[in-house]
Amino acid sequence: MWNKVLLEQAKCSCPPDGDTMLWVRASGPLRWRRLSPLPGLRSFLCLLLSLLGVLPSFGFLFDIDGVLVRGRTPIPAARTAFQKLVNSQGQFLVPVVFVTNAGNCLRQKKADQLSHLLGISQDQVMMSHSPLRMFKHYHEKCVLVSGQGPLLDISQDLGFCQPITIDTLREKRPLLDAVDHDRRPNVLVSGDFSVVLFGEPVRWETSLQLIIDVLLTSGYPGNPYKQENYPHIPVLACNMDLMWVAEAQSPRFGHGTFMVCLENIYKKITGKELKYEALMGKPSRLTYQYAEHLIRAQALQRSWEQPIQTLYAVGDNLMTDVYGANLYNRYLQESSSTGSRSRLQAKNELAAAAAAHCRSVLVCTGVYTPHTELALDTRDSIPDTVFHGHRDFRFDPALVEPDHIVPDVDAAVDLVFQLENFAPN
Ligand SMILES: [Mg+2]
Repeated sequence: MWNKVLLEQAKCSCPPDGDTMLWVRASGPLRWRRLSPLPGLRSFLCLLLSLLGVLPSFGFLFDIDGVLVRGRTPIPAARTAFQKLVNSQGQFLVPVVFVTNAGNCLRQKKADQLSHLLGISQDQVMMSHSPLRMFKHYHEKCVLVSGQGPLLDISQDLGFCQPITIDTLREKRPLLDAVDHDRRPNVLVSGDFSVVLFGEPVRWETSLQLIIDVLLTSGYPGNPYKQENYPHIPVLACNMDLMWVAEAQSPRFGHGTFMVCLENIYKKITGKELKYEALMGKPSRLTYQYAEHLIRAQALQRSWEQPIQTLYAVGDNLMTDVYGANLYNRYLQESSSTGSRSRLQAKNELAAAAAAHCRSVLVCTGVYTPHTELALDTRDSIPDTVFHGHRDFRFDPALVEPDHIVPDVDAAVDLVFQLENFAPN
């Protein structure tokens, strides 16, 4: 009887407040009755509904470019896929996060770009810089920000109180003003200064020069370089993509190329390695951990109390989407066996990882096409001599082998529902 009531309830549309866990349709089609189950019973109900395939114990991480859209054009399979992901009220049936390496705009703008597909909130969109929201110990300090687009708006939206752009630093001419300590710009404070690299800037020579000045003087670019300023002040970097595809026939320089320049100039001058306090954007582990954090926040908001066990990362790029998902899966496996998941939590205020698996699903509607790459063995087609990943990421052929390959995002949703025995409708 309970099974029948629960199954009927779960397969019906949500009750008025969307709190499906505490309501049953007792009798008749329109009468809902709220239950107040004991905690143990509540857990039992969650487990039962999960086993019945009506509540999710998994979440989706969707890449955007090449999976949902190509340029400004929606990929047809995306519309079909999203019809399966929402109920009749337009609410998602599973937790979903949209993860992009783009970083030159606010989350809301990216959410607006997807509004022709479905209504999504900015809380579901994750940019390459989004994990910076968790680095609260830097928010009160001065940060030199490098990139282009609305940098100050992005910085302030992330929580930074005292961002200063390269242009502002240049205009203030700190090399001259630093001679007179009283006229030294008060935005530059030694010891509390850090550098955030959001994306590739427009005038590289200016940015490279001023960032090197700041690093070698611990935030006082008016002072002479000192080799003993090492380790240097913290550098946080977003989006490590070496190149990206635009309208031109060949790939264009990405932020990763700018970082290569900065790293090599720093090493040439000092003989030491430029060190990053954090690297974020796919394929970094931090990005996937933050995405998991958002997935669990959505599940909690919907009162889906059963643990999210599996993350499915759907993307079109072997070197970012597949590599990143497999790298995070490896971290989940290793950290669960060593019990080391709490270390990252303490450093950047992220909740510890809790999922058991992260599965990579490769689609063929974007960068990857089966005729050009998958027909070959990835071990042969991507030798480490031409590895385009960042310096701090080791090439490993196993990390670019997807768990699943499907034609498009609609097939990806079908596959995952089948693997999870998920039957919401
Ligand atoms: Mg993509």
